[in-house]
Amino acid sequence: MTINTATTLATLLPLSDARGWHRAACRGDPNHEAWFPYPSDDFGYARAICAGCPIRAGCAEFAADTGQSGVWGGREYDRGRLVRE
Ligand code: SF4
Repeated sequence: MTINTATTLATLLPLSDARGWHRAACRGDPNHEAWFPYPSDDFGYARAICAGCPIRAGCAEFAADTGQSGVWGGREYDRGRLVRE
């Protein structure tokens, strides 16, 4: 997936969902690649931000339920399958 560098993770979040994405701790984070790490990359940067996020549980649930990839809720997913935590 190619990500436009002008895109923030928050703009990728489903605005129609009721989980309160506007409170996402990652909103506006400029390090886009950190949220979609290569398998050999550490994702401590993203995980640390998720640790303080008020919607963490709902975020992880959303990722699993809707087949997301990347770091969601402090965990890494590949098409909804938990890869690392
Ligand atoms: S748990 Fe992490 S990925 Fe999910 S909204 Fe919060 S900061 Fe973003």
